[in-house]
Amino acid sequence: MIKLPNIVRVGGFDLKVYFPYNFDDMNMGEKDLGLFEPSALKIKVQGYDTGGILYPNSIILQTFLHEIFHAIDLIYCYDKINSLDDTFFGEDSEEVSIPSLSVGWYQVLKDNNLLTLKTIPKKVRVGAYTYDIIYPYDKEGEDAFNLHGIAYVKNQIKIRGLHTHGLKYDFQRIQQILLYCVTLVVIDNYACWIPDNDDIFSSFSFGLYQVLKDNSIEKLIHKYK
Ligand SMILES: [Zn+2]
Repeated sequence: MIKLPNIVRVGGFDLKVYFPYNFDDMNMGEKDLGLFEPSALKIKVQGYDTGGILYPNSIILQTFLHEIFHAIDLIYCYDKINSLDDTFFGEDSEEVSIPSLSVGWYQVLKDNNLLTLKTIPKKVRVGAYTYDIIYPYDKEGEDAFNLHGIAYVKNQIKIRGLHTHGLKYDFQRIQQILLYCVTLVVIDNYACWIPDNDDIFSSFSFGLYQVLKDNSIEKLIHKYK
């Protein structure tokens, strides 16, 4: 049976993971199989369906990622992703952005080696598309861009190697910028509605980077794919 870690570290917080958890009130419905409890620092993931059958690993892992993303949103993004959902769709409506982000990122982590290599990968698959990762990209002129990294519609992700004044980016920073760019592509592919908001995407990618690294999430997903 699939094993999830007992603790997940998000920012400075150690969240206790309860799995397989059995939600007794099943008004949670079929769609919500997990819960993040910020005040108790708990993540709960349902293990079995109402018929007592264990959920497939992909459902369990995607649910786990979904709850982790709620924690990243709260801890790194001041809950802005969720709040924007509420503002746009109304507080009683179903959430949109976290589900699509977590479904998209689950596929990306499953199909790629983004952080497990000692180098920046040359390609990343998001949805049905394979994007070329051009790194280091330090050309100036017509094609120059001010951001550290950029995701283009033409299936390219470009990441700078050099900061202003020729300073070299630290490798960890490059990895985080890669996650930022891939998040933009995930948003394009998976119908996350979040309006263009670089601050949110940036903070989200810092949080995602810390969480993926500290908890070896990519490895976990590869182990059970
Ligand atoms: Zn949720």
